[in-house]
Amino acid sequence: IWEEVLKEAKNHLSEQIVNTWLKPIKVGELRGDFIQLIAPNKFYKNWIETKYLPLIKKIFNESLSIEAQTIQVITKLSEKQKKTVTHTVSSAVTVDVFTSNLNKQYTFDNFVVGNSNNFAHAACLAVSEGYFHTYNPLFIYGGVGLGKTHLMHAVGNKLLEKFPKLKVLYISSENFTNEMISSLKSKKMDEFREKYRKIDVLLFDDVQFLAGKQRSTEEFFYTFNSLYDSQKQIILTSDKTPDEIPEMEERLKSRFAWGLIADIQPPSVEEKTAILMKRAEQMNIPLDEKVALFIAENLKSDNVRELIGALIRLSAYSSFNGEPISIELAKKTLDKFLIKKDKIITFDTILKVVCEYFNVKLSELKSKKRTKSIAYPRQIAMYLMREKLNCSLNEIGEIFGGRDHSTVLHSINSIEKKIKKEKELKEIIKILEKALYE
Ligand code: ADP
Ligand code: MG
Repeated sequence: IWEEVLKEAKNHLSEQIVNTWLKPIKVGELRGDFIQLIAPNKFYKNWIETKYLPLIKKIFNESLSIEAQTIQVITKLSEKQKKTVTHTVSSAVTVDVFTSNLNKQYTFDNFVVGNSNNFAHAACLAVSEGYFHTYNPLFIYGGVGLGKTHLMHAVGNKLLEKFPKLKVLYISSENFTNEMISSLKSKKMDEFREKYRKIDVLLFDDVQFLAGKQRSTEEFFYTFNSLYDSQKQIILTSDKTPDEIPEMEERLKSRFAWGLIADIQPPSVEEKTAILMKRAEQMNIPLDEKVALFIAENLKSDNVRELIGALIRLSAYSSFNGEPISIELAKKTLDKFLIKKDKIITFDTILKVVCEYFNVKLSELKSKKRTKSIAYPRQIAMYLMREKLNCSLNEIGEIFGGRDHSTVLHSINSIEKKIKKEKELKEIIKILEKALYE
């Protein structure tokens, strides 16, 4: 789990900080919403508690979907572990001359391609081969957690593998803004501009956050022009198309559309299952395809980050409680995150299912006709509404042409009695219930 926390932390903190402060931490216990972290010594403990606890909590709760109400940091470490810690600290002191900010974990190899993302993936792959002028800028847009940042890092990582001297820089628009503000304050704007203008490949994440920020927008505009004019590659991501970003300067929007605009859509159930299986394999989680499919079909969110979070949560609960991963365990531990199927059933679904099964017309079902072939299905529909929707007798009466509640009650009671006696009716109800959930 801690590996996942580290990975996510790299989106918020510099790699150096993550390696220095968070990497040596271990997870001690995980019980319900209580999490215990083990720090190498008191110094770490204090530092973590004062500086990084809110972020760690946030990552557990939001990115990994592991409820973390209380996080306790303790110190307890063997001699051997102490040695590795001092090693980590001293080696972190040497700073790279040019830091690309790339997260090595985000590669093409571990990115699952499907209909939802194959266009963006293909474009990124082309850029990563070194075809710089074809898609410039490459603008990728799509909802939160659909893999934009992952793809961007994958391009950077692959490029550096092939061309180690290339100056690839990944930066989020927020960090760009922060860096600019601090450069302004310390009167180092020349340095700032110099740094950005010597880049070969700029990976600029979440450009929509520049909207409304005049000074950073302006600075970015010059960076963009300078890089573009010297035929350097630019990749941008955003949660919206250039047109849809509010308060974004026209001149920037039009530049964003000079190259290629590629979208990423929410993944289908098949893609979600594939992503879960792949991630489980990477993390050595014994995940049955049936369970993966269950999660893929039933998770409320389309966000891949939350999908993976669900897997991690499930696996954490499984290993801490010694229960094998199953659909049952998934239902138990992911309950809050799953679609509540009962909510989807409406009066209309019940009417539809009953009409179809008994082959009667909706108008007949709602009419006053009392022939058995119609009255019987009608009573069953009433019974199902009461059972599944927890609605009032009057509401049901309304649906069936304004019958009063005592008539409705009588119908429901008679079905209830028959279910107890007649096996056949019991079967019919089962079939109808199943159809309701489909
Ligand atoms: P975005 O930047 O679009 O908000 P991220 O790139 O941060 O999304 O992706 C969120 C998480 O989901 C990351 O851990 C990423 O590795 C994972 N992810 C997203 N899409 C895929 C995919 N197609 N295959 C594998 N992992 C994916
Ligand atoms: Mg992102």
